[in-house]
Parts: sequence; C-alpha cells; structure tokens
Amino acid sequence: MVKSVNGNIYSDLITSSREELFGFYDDNTPKKFIVIHGMATVNFNGGMSGWYSNINPTGRQASANYCVSDIEIVGCVGENYGAWHCGGVGSITNQNSIGIEHVNSSNGNYADASTYLFSEDTLNNGAKLCAEICLRLGIPIDREHIVPHRDVYATACPQTLDIDDYIARVKKFAKGEVPNALPEQKEGIDMNGLLVVTKSDFGGAFAINRIFYWSISTGFIYMPDMACIDILNKQSQHSTGKNLLVYDSSLSSPWHLRMAQMNNKVKI
Ligand SMILES: [Zn+2]
Repeated sequence: MVKSVNGNIYSDLITSSREELFGFYDDNTPKKFIVIHGMATVNFNGGMSGWYSNINPTGRQASANYCVSDIEIVGCVGENYGAWHCGGVGSITNQNSIGIEHVNSSNGNYADASTYLFSEDTLNNGAKLCAEICLRLGIPIDREHIVPHRDVYATACPQTLDIDDYIARVKKFAKGEVPNALPEQKEGIDMNGLLVVTKSDFGGAFAINRIFYWSISTGFIYMPDMACIDILNKQSQHSTGKNLLVYDSSLSSPWHLRMAQMNNKVKI
C-alpha cells in the first residue's frame, strides 16, 4: 500500500516524510531495482538535512527515496520521482531504481568504510521496507534487483552492509516472517570466544576496546560498540561460573581473517 504526501508517493510503512528533499525526473519511470545505501553517519536527521532541498538550497546534491533507522522510515523523495542517490550510468539508474539509505550504528572514519556498522534493527527495518516495495512493484527479491550502491557506482557505499544477508532478511519479510534480530542463544554454550581489539587497527579511535563474539557452532559473529569486557566477564562468571575465553590475534585485515586466526583456521 502507498501513502501520498504533497504529490510524493511513498510506501505506507513510512513513519514520517520530508518531501522538501530534492527529487527530479517527474516522469514516473517504472522502478525496477532497489539500491541499498549506508549513510556514513550516525546522525540520521542531520544526514538528510545536509542534502539539497528547498529549505537548504546550498545542500549537497544527494538524496534518497527513503532513509531508515532502527525505528524510523522517513519518506524523502517519492517513488514517482527519481532521487539523487546512485549516480548509476549502466542499466541501474536514479530514474529506474529506489534508493534506501540506512543510518550507521557507529560513526566511523570516512577513509575506512569498514568502520561504519549497522544495527540489526536498522537492517531489519530497511529489509521490511524493501520487501513491501518489492511485493508491491513486482521487483524480484534477488541479487540482480536488490543491489549495493557499489555495484552501480565507484563507491564504498554501503560500507559494511552484507547484501546477501540483507536480501535473506527481505525474503523473510516477504514471506511474512520476521528475521531474528539475533540468533537464538542456547544457554551458556553459544559464546565460544571473544576478541578485544586493543589497538586502533580500524583506523579510528572508536575501534579501541571493540569486542567481537563468535560461536563456532552457529558461525554467529557480533560486534557491539564500545562494550566493556569487565562487565561481560562478570556476567559470565555470574551466570556460568566461568571466565569468558579471550583470544588475541594479529592485526591483519580483514577482520574475518582475525576471526579465522582465533579459530586456528589460519596460522598467524
Ligand atoms: Zn550510497
């Protein structure tokens, strides 16, 4: 279902709209693709306010059809317009695609896209919107029609967003299921290890003391920001009587190589 606000056609999943943001190509070009973006900021409203609009005529020449946070879906440029979102010059263009921006959960270092993370709730909120659009417009839910920005333009966008994981979430929503924000935890056995990054090997101060958890059985990896190992360890001692396993690794990149090293899959 759609909602019309001042001539802009949006999904009815929007929680608010900012139709003052700039759109163009008022030609109703059919939308056949979804382009997935990351905002490269944790500042949800500030990111949008920096775009060109009739209240910010000196803003950046950028926009999107939707901006998504963990709890909000903001309709920006209506689906009946093109947004300035992907710059695509091949078969996927601003005119024939819908751009969905996702706010980051960590403010990273602009030079290093691996520092920009996304929360589970934001990914699920975006995937829910994407599923609604795909079902309504008949866009196939696959890797050819739901693409990361970097597929159509030389950019690191959408940073750390895993497009295959994202599409899997969209498929679940399309079937009326809700992806679990986190895998189900079996009491006491799922956390196999923990890595504390004590040097800023991600290129930004935010990386210091970042903690990685993983489970060999589920392959689950989670990276909360700025978590505190002492508190986690106390929780572990309280609930299991044991200390958490803490491993160290080399500072090689990418991060999953470090995970493999700690799993003894790769010799350091
Ligand atoms: Zn982008």
